[in-house]
Amino acid sequence: MADSSSTTVGVAKTEKIWLDGKFIPWDQAQIHVMTLGLHYGVGAFEGIRAYDCGGGKSAVFRLREHVERLYQSAKIMLLDIPYPAEDLARACVEILKINKMPQGYIRPLAFMGDGAMGLGAINPVRVAIMAWVWGSYLGDEGMKKGIRAKVSSFTRMHVNSNMVRGKITGQYVNSVLAKREAKLAGYDEAIFLDQQGWVAEATGENLFLVRGGVVYTPPPASPILEGITRGTILRLLKDHGLEVREQAFTRDTLYIADEVFLCGTAAEVTPVREVDNRQVGSGEPGRVAKLVQQAFFKAARGGDERYQEWLTYY
Ligand code: PMP
Repeated sequence: MADSSSTTVGVAKTEKIWLDGKFIPWDQAQIHVMTLGLHYGVGAFEGIRAYDCGGGKSAVFRLREHVERLYQSAKIMLLDIPYPAEDLARACVEILKINKMPQGYIRPLAFMGDGAMGLGAINPVRVAIMAWVWGSYLGDEGMKKGIRAKVSSFTRMHVNSNMVRGKITGQYVNSVLAKREAKLAGYDEAIFLDQQGWVAEATGENLFLVRGGVVYTPPPASPILEGITRGTILRLLKDHGLEVREQAFTRDTLYIADEVFLCGTAAEVTPVREVDNRQVGSGEPGRVAKLVQQAFFKAARGGDERYQEWLTYY
């Protein structure tokens, strides 16, 4: 079935990709089919955004935190990244400069390369850094009007089967299954419940809801990625004097919430207007979602003095 979602639109080539320490032309960034990461999902990755701040200035958003998480994900997978973190952080900025991108999405990827084969194989770790221009991950209209979500028939990972603190390539099969199911059923995004039935997160986003003036998001003890955008939003909400509780809630709480919104590096802040065919609140992005969206973009584009520490200008 055709998929017209903006999340699957082909990526426009940029000039260069950083592979194993060197900038090389896009078309030459190829790997061997014996690459172990390709067979077994042994890899760790990141998604980072850079924003045009105007006046000829651009900034990478929360670069340090993303690079740190990449190394943590690699550590969880016993992958030894053969470069110091400062080198990769620098390459993440350079890839934008070299490709003349005032804004864009950066994808660092560390994976086990080729050599031996088998689940216990230990091959050299290879690292690639790519960048491309990516618009609103859940669509411009979704960003403005809210998206339609479906609670998935797939369950979020068990904490002892998958490593929920890591952004590990193989683990995304769970997300792909849920996303494809939701899209085939005519929805924009899937929401996972955990093994106990509590709401966890979406396929590539964390989730917030608003009920009775209080903002709720699943606690770090649930099987969610501890999103960097989630952390950003917790801070923005507190700085705006809103009450936030990191607390478990049930799927039917989504149905009766005043607001639901998703957040992530790719999806930024995307309101949810419908869950399982129940309209959320008024069916339009609510006051808190709009406030968070606005505060988020202002911070990311360098417009708020309080959050300059989040920005790496280039
Ligand atoms: N959950 C999952 C499963 C994700 O893949 C992502 C995207 N990295 C997020 C949440 C949001 O994380 P972040 O805000 O750090 O991008």
